[in-house]
Amino acid sequence: MRGAVIHAPGDVRFETLEDPRILHPTDAIIRTAVTCVCGSDLWSYRGAEPIGDPHPMGHEYVGFVEEVGAEVTSVKPGQFVVGSFATSDNTCANCRNGFPSNCLHREFMSTCQADYVRIPNAQGTLVATDEVPDERFWPGLLAVSDVMGTGWWAADAAEVGPGSTAVVVGDGAVGLCAVIAAKERGAERVIAMSRHESRQKLAREFGATDIVTERGDEGIARIKDLTGGIGADAVLECVGTAEAMRQALHSARPGGNVGFVGVPHGVAIDGQELFFSHVGLRGGPAPVRRYLPDLIDHVLSGRIDPGKVFDLTLPLDQVAEGYRAMDERRAVKTLLTP
Ligand SMILES: [Zn+2]
Repeated sequence: MRGAVIHAPGDVRFETLEDPRILHPTDAIIRTAVTCVCGSDLWSYRGAEPIGDPHPMGHEYVGFVEEVGAEVTSVKPGQFVVGSFATSDNTCANCRNGFPSNCLHREFMSTCQADYVRIPNAQGTLVATDEVPDERFWPGLLAVSDVMGTGWWAADAAEVGPGSTAVVVGDGAVGLCAVIAAKERGAERVIAMSRHESRQKLAREFGATDIVTERGDEGIARIKDLTGGIGADAVLECVGTAEAMRQALHSARPGGNVGFVGVPHGVAIDGQELFFSHVGLRGGPAPVRRYLPDLIDHVLSGRIDPGKVFDLTLPLDQVAEGYRAMDERRAVKTLLTP
């Protein structure tokens, strides 16, 4: 089979790789239906994370089950399945407590930009749809496997509820999905922070009621203006930079919550400042598996369409161009079709 391999910053190649095979009785092999490039893949592409030896890339997938290990009974060959970037057994204490992305047997996916993928912990990780969904739903279901699940977690962690005011920091794919999540969870006002016209348009389509283009102290002041001078009930931080976290913490009202789902890079939080702010803080890798059944229903019923975050579709063999387009901000998110 073939798949994406990163060799150095800016150097992703499409190469022939060994076909994945069942290594453990809890594995499954899937044939990729669609996959994509994640904003978090850009950390290593841009040299912000060490790459080490050349290695495959990708952690988002939907596909068809090809083969299952002896202990996998929940899915069978031929079924269309959605999973998560973090695999989980769905039985350990952390899974039972609702945090499958912290499963005691967790393995992070990292080989998904390829024709075939081995899924560890398949029994607990994969959710099959009742039938093979129409192809128009595939991008939305793919989004559910990562960015939509992560946007939902941001809203869940920030405790967005009916009638609340939510601020979304970040207008990448996760931020845009967080707008969908805030609206679905009943926020009356959803303020999206974005400087890009096309992303503002999509944020509005997804349910944003206000757009804030300012950043830094001006951005914080603008949020205060819009929230009676006190800040928002819930802030969804979907970037991971120090600037975005500062924006988030200063945009929440006393007693409000920040859900932070951007992988932190260079973020340090001042204990005194947090103490006196009365702001609640929760984040981490999204417990996507917990949300899968519900979010799959949301997509297949047409209630939400997070597949709209994909604004570039390329054949898998042009994966290198998919990275370039996102790195140069010509695309929000690249969909790849084997
Ligand atoms: Zn577990």
